[in-house]
Amino acid sequence: MRAQSEACGTEIISQTVAKVDLSSRPFKYWLHPMGDDVEIEEETHTADSLIIATGAKARRLELPGEDKYWGNGVSACAVCDGSLPMFRNQPLVVIGGGDSAVEEAIYLTKKASKVYVLVRRDVLRASKANARRLTTNPKVEVRFNTQPKEIKGEEKKGGLMTTLVVKNGKTGKEEEIEARGLFYAVGHEPATQLFKGQLKMDEDGYLITEPGTSITNVKGVFAAGDVQDKKYRQAVTSAGKSLSISAFRYQRKRSNIHMTGSGCIAALEAEKYLAEQDDTVEPELEAENQAEKSQTNGIVPEYRSNPLL
Ligand code: NAP
Repeated sequence: MRAQSEACGTEIISQTVAKVDLSSRPFKYWLHPMGDDVEIEEETHTADSLIIATGAKARRLELPGEDKYWGNGVSACAVCDGSLPMFRNQPLVVIGGGDSAVEEAIYLTKKASKVYVLVRRDVLRASKANARRLTTNPKVEVRFNTQPKEIKGEEKKGGLMTTLVVKNGKTGKEEEIEARGLFYAVGHEPATQLFKGQLKMDEDGYLITEPGTSITNVKGVFAAGDVQDKKYRQAVTSAGKSLSISAFRYQRKRSNIHMTGSGCIAALEAEKYLAEQDDTVEPELEAENQAEKSQTNGIVPEYRSNPLL
């Protein structure tokens, strides 16, 4: 995908954005020098439009043993890692009481010998329907009022987790559960720190977009992917291709579109926004299309013949 993007004329800048100013157009942003997240470059960059796709990070609990067994039993995504042979027919644990925890646990029951779900309160946060699916699954044991305390495992290099120490919040009793896998489902944190005070966010920090669109409260700024979607998240990863085609085509004409990720809707909206800002682009594009047609004997690649792209 990177090669495809570059072939379309995109300049990919592999640096971290340190600061943005969305108070006026063109938008301004500053970068951290490569590999350094303390200093901020003095140079100011500008963008006519901005697509934010900075994503969301799965929360972790930073338990003792978590770093040691991360990838060797501990994960934050059952759908990504649950099929690994190391989990087959083994007892596994999911932590969390929301809809994600339910879905992850049900998914894991297809592989595991047993799935424990640890819930810190005495109720599930998940919907009633999901709660029923969970509690009636014969392979699932839900432990309410239960918090994980420590992950233990093999002491050799690359050793696997074998045990989870848990504590009952009501009785105070500690217990060891045999578990070959531990999956966190305790929510996600959207990467929106950069935009605090400048873009509208919900109480969890997700960017708010107009329903069914990627339009934020600042004209010309669009949000795509997990940063504005707490429900579907990684359901579709390949849709970014369309974004690339659409935005890159524009980028050849407008040197300062900068993308931070993927999202076809956002690309189409950014393109529309820029076209509305600058009518003079159209004759230019038309001239380019004519030149391309003459070079290719009138055969235009399918995506370029799509008036939306
Ligand atoms: P969530 O609803 O925020 O649930 C997170 C769960 O983790 C809660 O049960 C919470 O406990 C628990 N938790 C948080 N911190 C914890 C800690 N330190 N120790 C132990 N437990 C902790 O997150 P989610 O399940 O990822 O869902 C996010 C959103 O997507 C929700 O709106 C959900 O409905 C939606 N979603 C929907 C579906 C579906 O409809 N099929 C599927 C997935 C997600 P408390 O309850 O005590 O706070």
